[in-house]
Amino acid sequence: MIEIYHLYKEYERNVAALKDINLVIDRGEFAFIVGASGAGKSTLLKLIIRECLPSKGTIKIFGRDIARLKNREIPLLRRNIGMVFQDFRLLQDRNVFENVAFTLRVTGASSREIRRRVPLALGLVGLKEKAFKKPSELSGGEQQRVCVARAIVNRPAVLLADEPTGNLDPATSMEIMNLLHDINVRGATVIVATHAKDLVDHFQKRVIVLENGSLVSDQERGVYINAR
Ligand code: ADP
Repeated sequence: MIEIYHLYKEYERNVAALKDINLVIDRGEFAFIVGASGAGKSTLLKLIIRECLPSKGTIKIFGRDIARLKNREIPLLRRNIGMVFQDFRLLQDRNVFENVAFTLRVTGASSREIRRRVPLALGLVGLKEKAFKKPSELSGGEQQRVCVARAIVNRPAVLLADEPTGNLDPATSMEIMNLLHDINVRGATVIVATHAKDLVDHFQKRVIVLENGSLVSDQERGVYINAR
């Protein structure tokens, strides 16, 4: 599903954010990407969603080299990859329903489709009753649930999360991670970049460790302790 070969990313000449990354993530997997701040976790996710292009190497998603996609094919790729951020990135002046509907509107979904899909996504994250609240009326955990609903409303095959629990307390963090896990169980491939050692250890999923832009460990049922 996601194949990465000899991937390098330099934002500035001769300063590598990622160096020779080789990685295959299969359909339906749940993988954590861990590593110190600056290790390259966000860069890897940004490359997968084609927010930026590799300096060298190849990323294939659904069998296609994403650097070779035509401009008109990029929206389709992004529709198939949902993304959740540490800082939520919600539209503050719109209610929960509209925040989730926004993703569908930009992809040209009909009103009927929006009325059907948004409640489904909000139901999945347990927020149906809060559909008409503004983000400022919600707790941090609820805001992150809205982001998860927004990320999955297109039913993407892949869900990426960049430090999704970075702004949340431990109990709420566990709830959000359980939610991401549920989404994985329902069939999506889920990749979570995180610092949250306790959560990584709790789930015992695949753990990919980055260090200074290099992949230094990749374990099937790992724990965070392997990160140096
Ligand atoms: P992490 O997510 O693990 O904290 P990042 O992928 O954000 O790591 O960063 C990896 C390296 O790339 C760091 O040295 C960071 O300073 C650098 N970097 C990230 N984004 C940019 C950018 N837009 N321009 C220049 N350097 C960047």
